[in-house]
Amino acid sequence: MPGPVLLAVDDDRECLSALTRELGDRYSRDYRIVCTGSPEEALAKLEKLAEDGEEVALVLAAQWLPGTTGSDLLGQVRRLHPHAKRGLLITWGGWGDPATGEAIFDSMAHGRIDYYVLRPAGSPDEIFHQTISSFLLEWARDRRIAPHTIRVVGEVWSGRAYELREMLGRCAIPHSFCLADSDEGRGLLAGADGGSQLPLVILPNGNMLTDPTNAELAQAAGASVDPEHTDFDLVIVGCGPAGLSAAVYGASEGFTTLVIDEGGIGGQATSSSLIRNYLGFPAGISGGRLAEQAYEQAWVLGAKFAFMQQALELRREDGQICVSLSGHSGVHARAVILATGATYRRLGVPELEAMNGAGVFYGGPAAEAPGVGGHDVYVLGGANSAGQAALHLARYARRVTLVVRAESLAVGMSHYLAREVQATPNVDVRLGTEVTGGGGEGWLDHLVLRELASGQEETVDAAALFLMIGARPHTDWLPAEVSRDPRGFILTGGDLPTPAWPLERSPFELETSMPGVFAAGDARHGSVKRVASAVGEGSMAIQFMHGLFAADGLERTGSRAQPVS
Ligand SMILES: Cc1cc2nc3c(=O)[nH]c(=O)nc-3n(C[C@H](O)[C@H](O)[C@H](O)COP(=O)(O)OP(=O)(O)OC[C@H]3O[C@@H](n4cnc5c(N)ncnc54)[C@H](O)[C@@H]3O)c2cc1C
Repeated sequence: MPGPVLLAVDDDRECLSALTRELGDRYSRDYRIVCTGSPEEALAKLEKLAEDGEEVALVLAAQWLPGTTGSDLLGQVRRLHPHAKRGLLITWGGWGDPATGEAIFDSMAHGRIDYYVLRPAGSPDEIFHQTISSFLLEWARDRRIAPHTIRVVGEVWSGRAYELREMLGRCAIPHSFCLADSDEGRGLLAGADGGSQLPLVILPNGNMLTDPTNAELAQAAGASVDPEHTDFDLVIVGCGPAGLSAAVYGASEGFTTLVIDEGGIGGQATSSSLIRNYLGFPAGISGGRLAEQAYEQAWVLGAKFAFMQQALELRREDGQICVSLSGHSGVHARAVILATGATYRRLGVPELEAMNGAGVFYGGPAAEAPGVGGHDVYVLGGANSAGQAALHLARYARRVTLVVRAESLAVGMSHYLAREVQATPNVDVRLGTEVTGGGGEGWLDHLVLRELASGQEETVDAAALFLMIGARPHTDWLPAEVSRDPRGFILTGGDLPTPAWPLERSPFELETSMPGVFAAGDARHGSVKRVASAVGEGSMAIQFMHGLFAADGLERTGSRAQPVS
């Protein structure tokens, strides 16, 4: 019988029979269910499935098995079936048992399991099924076979097809890519009446776009491009975690709110394949998924969005703050929140800059990872984002090398992540090293690494380089009135130099030197560069909004927002 496999191993007879019943009753129409009490049989079956190239979507294993442990067995699954989700089965209350608790922490830290699963109790056990269907949804998303996935067909991985994929990624829109001369590509093109110009974009509703502009693609995918009105209580520039959080709280507190972004939703967070330190998601959540949910939340609360619109200018006009936009005359607001985040520092090696998108990528590898299967790839950077990128790539690549200038991972990386990186067999770490050159014919095939201490250079084979070397704030467009530190990060509240503040009242904590203009998230001087901190600052800014409206006697637009004429 065809279909991806769900495999469960548990030597407790009663539990095995409950697993067989629950998995069989709920999932056997779409998946092959394999349940066994023997870890040897489970491993042999998984090896055979890997040999035959069969897909395994999920493996569940009880922790305490005869002759082995579930975490060891699940650790081997990663090698055999890198995309399979892995759940460690425990009994209710098992986390209170020190040995089981330690097995869960250790397996999570070393990436041997995705999460733990409570053994089914009774039938139907909806808590069990909620965990299983979350695993299956994540698996389908990783495999890019989830419903509503946009398909991009291109001649090569680079060029315009790459830009479109990047743009879809920035809008957190699930998408997949295939080459025109692959079996899948030929099939899709055959259904497109032939002769279509590439790249071709096929939407989930069957509509097709040939070589669309970013704005056309965003609009076709359901993202708004023009603001409906021009007059708002609050305009938020930037739709990353800080902007999204401000939008949720601003709209929910009754401020008419517009969020503008030159891309789509999620900002830098969309390049994070798994955020494990955001409150409320114990198994972690991808940045794209978090952004998608936050966007939906802000939207149902009434926030308006304008994507593919760059904020070009900020000025005070007739007692209001005016934001000029790239594709629109501009919008007015009583208050503005700058949540423009940061962009990556460039490597500054011309031959590698020239290969951007052709094996050299700034930022996380969420979209590119499937393309590096079986190759040796490099990640440059020593912070958490670089560690996460290396771990994500390790699922696809033959070998991942993390190149770090510092002499220790501890300098820039969280302890849990550094441990996981060091424990992953196909991840190497080269400390005290930098990338000084590289190249290839149309696609990167080698890099030059230099050891900082000795100055010794080495040329290595490399199919991809992911650069995660820090960021600079996106604040060049702001007027001089908005004071910044020497690196361009926006000064706020108590950090403002006294002469810069023009009013008698004191500035609010997140207020910039331009009254009524606030800053939140990575763009702000002194901010912690984390999703949770950006979200916290976005919501805090809304609390200050109430104070601002009262202190400066501002009147809300309410329902008086005027349609664009
Ligand atoms: C690969 C990666 C992994 C990460 N992993 C984690 C993690 O595991 N945990 C964690 O806590 N943090 C993580 N981070 C950091 C986290 O993503 C950032 O701290 C967070 O996204 C900052 O949010 P922000 O809203 O301030 O800015 P951003 O996310 O940078 O968003 C800013 C937005 O503003 C828009 N913008 C900028 N200028 C303009 C303009 N002029 N007009 C219109 N729009 C504009 C941009 O397009 C962007 O969408 C990671 C970052 C990266 C890159």
